[in-house]
Amino acid sequence: MSLRYRGRFAPSPTGPLHAGSLVAALASWLDARVHGGEWWVRIEDVDTPRCVAGVDQLILSQLAACGLHPDEPPLWQSQRSPLYEAALDRLVDAGHAYPCGCTRSDIAQALTASGHNKPRHGELVYPGTCRSGLRGKPARAMRLRCDEPIHWSDRRLGPQVQNVPDTVGDYVLKRADGLWAYQLAVVVDDADQGITDVVRGEDLADNTARQIQLQRRLGLPTPRYLHTPLVLNDLGEKLSKQSGAQALDLHDPLAALREAGRMLMLPTFDAQTSANWLAQAVPAWRTLWGTVP
Ligand SMILES: [Zn+2]
Repeated sequence: MSLRYRGRFAPSPTGPLHAGSLVAALASWLDARVHGGEWWVRIEDVDTPRCVAGVDQLILSQLAACGLHPDEPPLWQSQRSPLYEAALDRLVDAGHAYPCGCTRSDIAQALTASGHNKPRHGELVYPGTCRSGLRGKPARAMRLRCDEPIHWSDRRLGPQVQNVPDTVGDYVLKRADGLWAYQLAVVVDDADQGITDVVRGEDLADNTARQIQLQRRLGLPTPRYLHTPLVLNDLGEKLSKQSGAQALDLHDPLAALREAGRMLMLPTFDAQTSANWLAQAVPAWRTLWGTVP
Protein backbone atom coordinates (compact mmCIF):
# COMPACT_ATOMS: atom_id res chain seq x y z
CA MET A 1 0.00 0.00 0.00
CA SER A 2 1.51 3.29 -1.06
CA LEU A 3 -0.88 5.54 0.86
CA ARG A 4 0.54 6.87 4.08
CA TYR A 5 -1.11 5.36 7.15
CA ARG A 6 -3.87 7.54 8.54
CA GLY A 7 -6.01 6.35 11.43
CA ARG A 8 -8.79 7.92 13.40
CA PHE A 9 -10.66 7.88 16.68
CA ALA A 10 -14.32 8.72 16.21
CA PRO A 11 -16.19 9.25 19.48
CA SER A 12 -19.87 10.13 19.76
CA PRO A 13 -20.36 13.03 22.18
CA THR A 14 -23.12 11.27 24.10
CA GLY A 15 -21.05 11.12 27.28
CA PRO A 16 -17.47 11.67 28.44
CA LEU A 17 -14.76 9.12 27.67
CA HIS A 18 -14.90 6.10 29.96
CA ALA A 19 -12.39 3.28 30.38
CA GLY A 20 -13.76 1.43 27.32
CA SER A 21 -13.63 4.40 24.96
CA LEU A 22 -10.10 5.29 26.12
CA VAL A 23 -9.07 1.77 25.06
CA ALA A 24 -10.37 2.46 21.54
CA ALA A 25 -8.63 5.84 21.43
CA LEU A 26 -5.36 4.39 22.71
CA ALA A 27 -5.43 1.41 20.32
CA SER A 28 -5.98 3.62 17.28
CA TRP A 29 -3.29 6.08 18.43
CA LEU A 30 -0.72 3.31 19.08
CA ASP A 31 -1.37 1.65 15.74
CA ALA A 32 -0.90 4.97 13.93
CA ARG A 33 2.36 5.65 15.80
CA VAL A 34 3.71 2.14 15.12
CA HIS A 35 3.15 2.75 11.40
CA GLY A 36 4.66 6.23 11.45
CA GLY A 37 1.22 7.48 10.44
CA GLU A 38 -1.21 10.21 11.37
CA TRP A 39 -3.98 10.01 13.96
CA TRP A 40 -7.11 12.10 13.49
CA VAL A 41 -10.16 12.66 15.69
CA ARG A 42 -13.67 12.92 14.31
CA ILE A 43 -16.64 13.85 16.47
CA GLU A 44 -19.56 11.65 15.38
CA ASP A 45 -22.46 13.87 16.29
CA VAL A 46 -24.96 13.09 13.50
CA ASP A 47 -27.42 11.59 16.00
CA THR A 48 -28.05 15.02 17.48
CA PRO A 49 -30.82 14.02 19.95
CA ARG A 50 -28.34 11.69 21.70
CA CYS A 51 -25.49 14.23 21.83
CA VAL A 52 -24.85 16.22 24.99
CA ALA A 53 -23.75 19.85 24.68
CA GLY A 54 -20.14 20.44 25.66
CA VAL A 55 -19.21 16.75 25.77
CA ASP A 56 -17.23 17.06 22.52
CA GLN A 57 -14.84 19.53 24.16
CA LEU A 58 -14.72 17.42 27.29
CA ILE A 59 -13.67 14.36 25.25
CA LEU A 60 -10.96 16.36 23.47
CA SER A 61 -9.64 17.61 26.81
CA GLN A 62 -9.68 14.06 28.21
CA LEU A 63 -7.65 12.84 25.23
CA ALA A 64 -5.20 15.72 25.63
CA ALA A 65 -4.82 14.97 29.34
CA CYS A 66 -3.77 11.44 28.39
CA GLY A 67 -1.25 12.76 25.86
CA LEU A 68 -3.32 11.70 22.85
CA HIS A 69 -3.13 14.70 20.52
CA PRO A 70 -4.65 14.53 17.04
CA ASP A 71 -2.36 15.44 14.13
CA GLU A 72 -5.03 17.62 12.51
CA PRO A 73 -7.86 19.71 13.98
CA PRO A 74 -10.89 17.50 14.76
CA LEU A 75 -13.91 17.39 12.46
CA TRP A 76 -17.57 17.45 13.47
CA GLN A 77 -19.95 15.31 11.41
CA SER A 78 -22.83 17.68 12.12
CA GLN A 79 -21.07 20.23 9.87
CA ARG A 80 -20.72 17.85 6.93
CA SER A 81 -24.29 17.28 5.71
CA PRO A 82 -23.57 18.46 2.14
CA LEU A 83 -21.06 15.60 1.73
CA TYR A 84 -23.59 13.03 2.93
CA GLU A 85 -26.30 14.52 0.72
CA ALA A 86 -24.04 14.29 -2.34
CA ALA A 87 -23.24 10.64 -1.58
CA LEU A 88 -26.92 9.81 -1.17
CA ASP A 89 -27.74 11.55 -4.46
CA ARG A 90 -25.11 9.41 -6.21
CA LEU A 91 -26.58 6.23 -4.72
CA VAL A 92 -30.10 7.19 -5.76
CA ASP A 93 -28.99 8.14 -9.27
CA ALA A 94 -27.24 4.77 -9.63
CA GLY A 95 -30.32 2.88 -8.41
CA HIS A 96 -28.61 1.67 -5.22
CA ALA A 97 -30.77 3.67 -2.80
CA TYR A 98 -34.52 4.13 -2.67
CA PRO A 99 -37.15 5.84 -0.52
CA CYS A 100 -39.05 3.80 2.07
CA GLY A 101 -42.45 4.75 3.45
CA CYS A 102 -42.67 2.02 6.12
CA THR A 103 -43.20 2.70 9.78
CA ARG A 104 -41.75 0.28 12.32
CA SER A 105 -45.14 -1.37 12.70
CA ASP A 106 -45.48 -1.68 8.87
CA ILE A 107 -42.18 -3.58 8.89
CA ALA A 108 -43.21 -5.77 11.85
CA GLN A 109 -46.52 -6.62 10.14
CA ALA A 110 -44.85 -7.49 6.84
CA LEU A 111 -42.38 -9.75 8.66
CA THR A 112 -45.12 -11.48 10.66
CA ALA A 113 -47.16 -12.01 7.49
CA SER A 114 -44.17 -13.74 5.86
CA GLY A 115 -43.27 -15.69 9.04
CA HIS A 116 -39.86 -14.00 9.45
CA ASN A 117 -40.35 -11.84 12.50
CA LYS A 118 -37.01 -12.41 14.20
CA PRO A 119 -35.46 -9.19 15.46
CA ARG A 120 -31.66 -9.02 15.46
CA HIS A 121 -30.15 -6.92 18.28
CA GLY A 122 -33.70 -5.58 18.67
CA GLU A 123 -33.68 -4.40 15.04
CA LEU A 124 -36.11 -5.81 12.51
CA VAL A 125 -34.67 -7.16 9.26
CA TYR A 126 -36.22 -4.93 6.60
CA PRO A 127 -38.23 -7.14 4.21
CA GLY A 128 -37.73 -4.93 1.14
CA THR A 129 -41.33 -3.73 0.98
CA CYS A 130 -40.60 -0.45 -0.84
CA ARG A 131 -37.96 -1.76 -3.26
CA SER A 132 -40.45 -1.65 -6.08
CA GLY A 133 -42.02 1.67 -5.12
CA LEU A 134 -43.82 3.50 -2.35
CA ARG A 135 -47.32 2.48 -3.49
CA GLY A 136 -48.79 5.82 -2.49
CA LYS A 137 -47.12 6.05 0.92
CA PRO A 138 -45.11 9.21 1.68
CA ALA A 139 -41.32 8.67 1.74
CA ARG A 140 -39.92 8.47 5.27
CA ALA A 141 -36.39 7.09 5.09
CA MET A 142 -33.82 6.29 2.41
CA ARG A 143 -32.47 2.74 2.26
CA LEU A 144 -29.60 0.96 0.50
CA ARG A 145 -30.42 -2.04 -1.66
CA CYS A 146 -28.47 -5.09 -0.38
CA ASP A 147 -28.17 -8.14 -2.59
CA GLU A 148 -25.03 -10.01 -1.67
CA PRO A 149 -23.02 -11.29 1.30
CA ILE A 150 -19.91 -9.28 2.12
CA HIS A 151 -16.56 -10.92 2.75
CA TRP A 152 -13.83 -8.98 4.49
CA SER A 153 -10.70 -9.57 6.49
CA ASP A 154 -9.77 -8.26 9.93
CA ARG A 155 -6.18 -8.06 11.17
CA ARG A 156 -7.14 -9.82 14.40
CA LEU A 157 -10.32 -11.76 13.62
CA GLY A 158 -9.20 -13.03 10.21
CA PRO A 159 -11.63 -13.71 7.33
CA GLN A 160 -15.18 -12.56 8.04
CA VAL A 161 -18.45 -12.87 6.18
CA GLN A 162 -21.84 -11.32 6.76
CA ASN A 163 -24.95 -12.05 4.75
CA VAL A 164 -26.26 -8.49 4.89
CA PRO A 165 -29.56 -9.20 3.08
CA ASP A 166 -30.50 -11.92 5.60
CA THR A 167 -29.14 -10.37 8.77
CA VAL A 168 -29.91 -6.67 8.29
CA GLY A 169 -31.80 -6.18 5.07
CA ASP A 170 -31.79 -2.95 3.08
CA TYR A 171 -30.54 -0.56 5.76
CA VAL A 172 -31.27 3.08 6.40
CA LEU A 173 -29.02 5.82 5.00
CA LYS A 174 -31.19 8.76 5.96
CA ARG A 175 -33.61 8.37 8.82
CA ALA A 176 -37.31 9.21 8.95
CA ASP A 177 -36.44 12.09 11.30
CA GLY A 178 -34.15 13.54 8.59
CA LEU A 179 -30.92 12.63 10.39
CA TRP A 180 -28.05 10.89 8.61
CA ALA A 181 -27.50 7.26 9.49
CA TYR A 182 -24.22 6.34 11.17
CA GLN A 183 -23.12 3.99 8.36
CA LEU A 184 -23.33 6.59 5.61
CA ALA A 185 -21.60 9.33 7.59
CA VAL A 186 -18.74 7.01 8.62
CA VAL A 187 -18.12 5.73 5.10
CA VAL A 188 -18.21 9.17 3.50
CA ASP A 189 -15.92 10.66 6.13
CA ASP A 190 -13.39 7.81 6.18
CA ALA A 191 -12.96 8.22 2.42
CA ASP A 192 -13.01 12.02 2.43
CA GLN A 193 -10.39 12.09 5.19
CA GLY A 194 -8.19 9.51 3.48
CA ILE A 195 -8.39 7.06 6.41
CA THR A 196 -6.34 3.96 5.56
CA ASP A 197 -6.82 2.07 8.82
CA VAL A 198 -9.77 1.65 11.14
CA VAL A 199 -8.85 0.42 14.63
CA ARG A 200 -11.84 0.15 16.95
CA GLY A 201 -13.51 -2.14 19.46
CA GLU A 202 -14.97 -5.47 18.46
CA ASP A 203 -18.44 -4.23 19.44
CA LEU A 204 -18.35 -2.22 16.18
CA ALA A 205 -17.20 -5.13 13.98
CA ASP A 206 -20.81 -5.90 13.10
CA ASN A 207 -21.02 -2.60 11.14
CA THR A 208 -18.05 -3.40 8.94
CA ALA A 209 -19.82 -5.42 6.24
CA ARG A 210 -22.38 -2.66 5.73
CA GLN A 211 -19.66 -0.04 5.58
CA ILE A 212 -17.67 -2.04 3.03
CA GLN A 213 -20.77 -2.53 0.92
CA LEU A 214 -21.42 1.21 0.95
CA GLN A 215 -17.78 1.89 0.02
CA ARG A 216 -18.18 -0.38 -2.98
CA ARG A 217 -21.47 1.19 -4.06
CA LEU A 218 -19.85 4.62 -3.86
CA GLY A 219 -16.63 3.50 -5.55
CA LEU A 220 -14.56 4.34 -2.45
CA PRO A 221 -11.49 2.49 -1.14
CA THR A 222 -11.85 0.05 1.76
CA PRO A 223 -9.55 0.71 4.71
CA ARG A 224 -7.81 -2.05 6.64
CA TYR A 225 -9.65 -3.08 9.81
CA LEU A 226 -8.41 -4.11 13.24
CA HIS A 227 -11.07 -4.77 15.87
CA THR A 228 -9.64 -4.93 19.38
CA PRO A 229 -11.02 -7.28 22.06
CA LEU A 230 -14.18 -6.24 23.88
CA VAL A 231 -13.68 -4.42 27.14
CA LEU A 232 -15.86 -5.99 29.82
CA ASN A 233 -16.72 -4.83 33.31
CA ASP A 234 -16.49 -7.02 36.42
CA LEU A 235 -19.91 -8.49 35.61
CA GLY A 236 -18.75 -9.56 32.13
CA GLU A 237 -20.84 -6.82 30.44
CA LYS A 238 -19.55 -4.58 27.67
CA LEU A 239 -18.21 -1.34 29.14
CA SER A 240 -20.40 1.38 27.76
CA LYS A 241 -22.39 4.40 28.84
CA GLN A 242 -25.43 2.10 28.73
CA SER A 243 -23.91 -0.31 31.26
CA GLY A 244 -23.05 2.61 33.53
CA ALA A 245 -19.34 3.00 32.80
CA GLN A 246 -17.84 5.87 34.79
CA ALA A 247 -16.28 8.91 33.13
CA LEU A 248 -12.49 8.80 33.11
CA ASP A 249 -10.79 10.35 36.10
CA LEU A 250 -8.64 13.11 34.63
CA HIS A 251 -6.71 13.64 37.85
CA ASP A 252 -4.55 10.61 37.14
CA PRO A 253 -4.19 10.12 33.37
CA LEU A 254 -1.23 7.77 33.86
CA ALA A 255 -3.42 5.39 35.87
CA ALA A 256 -6.11 5.58 33.18
CA LEU A 257 -3.55 4.75 30.48
CA ARG A 258 -2.19 1.85 32.54
CA GLU A 259 -5.69 0.43 32.91
CA ALA A 260 -6.41 0.87 29.17
CA GLY A 261 -3.09 -0.83 28.37
CA ARG A 262 -3.98 -3.73 30.63
CA MET A 263 -7.26 -4.17 28.74
CA LEU A 264 -5.29 -4.24 25.48
CA MET A 265 -3.02 -6.95 26.93
CA LEU A 266 0.03 -4.67 26.95
CA PRO A 267 2.67 -5.48 29.57
CA THR A 268 3.13 -3.16 32.54
CA PHE A 269 5.86 -0.53 32.30
CA ASP A 270 7.64 1.60 34.82
CA ALA A 271 6.62 5.09 33.79
CA GLN A 272 6.37 8.35 35.72
CA THR A 273 4.48 10.35 33.08
CA SER A 274 1.81 9.72 30.44
CA ALA A 275 4.30 10.63 27.71
CA ASN A 276 6.82 8.11 29.00
CA TRP A 277 4.16 5.40 29.31
CA LEU A 278 3.00 6.05 25.72
CA ALA A 279 6.59 5.93 24.43
CA GLN A 280 7.01 2.46 25.93
CA ALA A 281 3.59 1.31 24.75
CA VAL A 282 4.39 1.91 21.05
CA PRO A 283 6.99 -0.89 20.70
CA ALA A 284 4.85 -3.15 22.90
CA TRP A 285 1.92 -2.59 20.53
CA ARG A 286 4.15 -3.46 17.59
CA THR A 287 5.06 -6.76 19.27
CA LEU A 288 1.42 -7.51 20.05
CA TRP A 289 -0.28 -6.62 16.77
CA GLY A 290 2.53 -6.34 14.27
CA THR A 291 2.53 -3.97 11.36
CA VAL A 292 0.73 -4.05 8.05
CA PRO A 293 2.69 -3.69 4.79
ZN1 LIG B 1 -40.52 0.51 3.17
